Amino acid sequence: MSTDRRIDVDGVSVSACHFIGGERVDSPETFEDRSPLRWEWKLADVARGGALEAQHAVSAAKVAFGQWSQLSSHERSEYLHRLADLIDENVDMIAHVECLDMAMLEESLRLRVIPRGARNFRAYGELAANYESRQWESNGTANTVLRMPAGPTVIVTPWNAPFMLSTWKCAPALAAGNTVILKPAEWSPLSCSLLMDLVQQAEFPPGVFNLVQGFGNEVGAALVSDPRVRRISFTGSPATGRLIGEAAARNLVPFTAELGGKGPFMVFADADLDAAAHKAAVMYDDAGQVCLAGTRLLVEESVRERFLVLFHEATLQHVLGDSRESATTISPLIHPDHLARVDAFVQRARTHGDEVHFGGQAHTAGALWYEPTLISPLSNESEVVQNEVFGPVLTIQSFTDEAEAIELANSTAYGLSAIVYTSNESRAQRLGAALRAGTIWINTFLVRDLTAPFGGAGISGIGREGGDYALDFYSDLKTLQIKEGTVHG
Ligand code: NAD
Repeated sequence: MSTDRRIDVDGVSVSACHFIGGERVDSPETFEDRSPLRWEWKLADVARGGALEAQHAVSAAKVAFGQWSQLSSHERSEYLHRLADLIDENVDMIAHVECLDMAMLEESLRLRVIPRGARNFRAYGELAANYESRQWESNGTANTVLRMPAGPTVIVTPWNAPFMLSTWKCAPALAAGNTVILKPAEWSPLSCSLLMDLVQQAEFPPGVFNLVQGFGNEVGAALVSDPRVRRISFTGSPATGRLIGEAAARNLVPFTAELGGKGPFMVFADADLDAAAHKAAVMYDDAGQVCLAGTRLLVEESVRERFLVLFHEATLQHVLGDSRESATTISPLIHPDHLARVDAFVQRARTHGDEVHFGGQAHTAGALWYEPTLISPLSNESEVVQNEVFGPVLTIQSFTDEAEAIELANSTAYGLSAIVYTSNESRAQRLGAALRAGTIWINTFLVRDLTAPFGGAGISGIGREGGDYALDFYSDLKTLQIKEGTVHG
């Protein structure tokens, strides 16, 4: 039976319930969702799903798959475009709630992050509708590659940029003809609930796009273990990626995992040092809670001192403050537990003998801010170099030549992104070939083409999403072979 329970979040009505089979559904138990802007500010008691809600959602998605998978990609594309239009019409509202819920800067959410959610649906609506199947002749047969929708798909997302990251995965899954059960993170559950209001307004058939709220080890684990689920797509930490991979393996279900990063930010002596220093200071944006950030500064020895001065100057321009205000550039961290985790990294680095150049503590103004921090590690083996902190903590190391730079860059278990500043084109090409990373940016950062493959090497992930790579993942591909001269008409 449909039961909605709506909460007033600073003037915006948000459902604190799941969305299953086209209806709002509550749970007997709830969990507290608080605002990182003022931790005493409770935003909502959100429905805490478990095995029952997981089963219910997969059943709804399985029933809806019958009809949704039979629609033409043009018909599905119309729903995706309608949803994209509704997101565009509601950007300010979604940005405001997301800002309160996870403290990303409201202006950046409004101008960049939430509109990207609309772009995700539009891009996949178009890609799927314009897909041309590969056809060729060989061995006396005409061959055609066809896509079959795979089935109910579980999508599990993390607390940083929940709206954008969820839409990035849900759009291709839906476009490919799958039905979706989305499970956002328990630290920032609200924007995905707003998305379900828009799904309802766009009149998606019931059960095509479902949302369940709750903890990862409860409803999340139940969803990824359900044998009726035919695809799992996950973004989050490597530790959870392993657990989800085990569950997927038990049911022989393909899964993709977009995991953590520890990207190098490489600065060569021939680079525009001022531009490099300013971009390096951008790594503190969103309080460093960005998987793609280049958190290991690797600087050519001959320019290290000059770069350090420019970088420190650029860092001093940052303003820690309330994420709703446009002057703020560094937001609070998501949660007191996360603040403690980030600080523990820094304190262990100190104990280990790594040198803290600046920062290195929670900001004295209170709230959940952590000061932008720069550390010179004792060695490349230091924990703070080798492990993802996911906070405003960078390390700086130097190199003497390109070979050493590449060795350092490729020396962690991660391989999500790399950023390089150089003015030498052949060096840019050589580094592109030599660096072990899913995305390499030369003299820029975060520029994304949605048709390009996206994912990580090493413990940064399995599989690729983006463009046709995502549509392939969410489909079962088959080959049709017709003997030449045997069919007519
Ligand atoms: P997390 O792994 O703790 O949680 C991610 C999601 O998994 C949450 O929804 C959580 O509830 C769920 N979950 C936890 N245990 C589960 C289980 N046993 N079964 C099913 N679901 C489970 O990650 P987080 O702390 O929310 O996010 C931060 C991490 O995400 C960082 O490592 C960051 O680098 C990574 N990240 C990666 C990308 C990328 O594109 N590669 C993007 C954003 C964030």
